[in-house]
Amino acid sequence: MQPTFLAKCGICNASVTALPLMKRDELTKAVDSDAEVRVMHRAPEGDHVWALGGREKTNLRNIMAKGLL
Ligand SMILES: [Zn+2]
Repeated sequence: MQPTFLAKCGICNASVTALPLMKRDELTKAVDSDAEVRVMHRAPEGDHVWALGGREKTNLRNIMAKGLL
């Protein structure tokens, strides 16, 4: 199962189950270096792909620090 987490979609502005578009080690590196983190979720009209904003990235960092992702 691929790791997912809750985030606000930058396209439909809803709270969704987001799937990171990178491998776990790349995701860790991106979060640590504050690099762009692109994620996606499936919407009825097709996939939504967006980059996490600052607050969402902080949230993701906290989730990963707790070992929840
Ligand atoms: Zn969306």
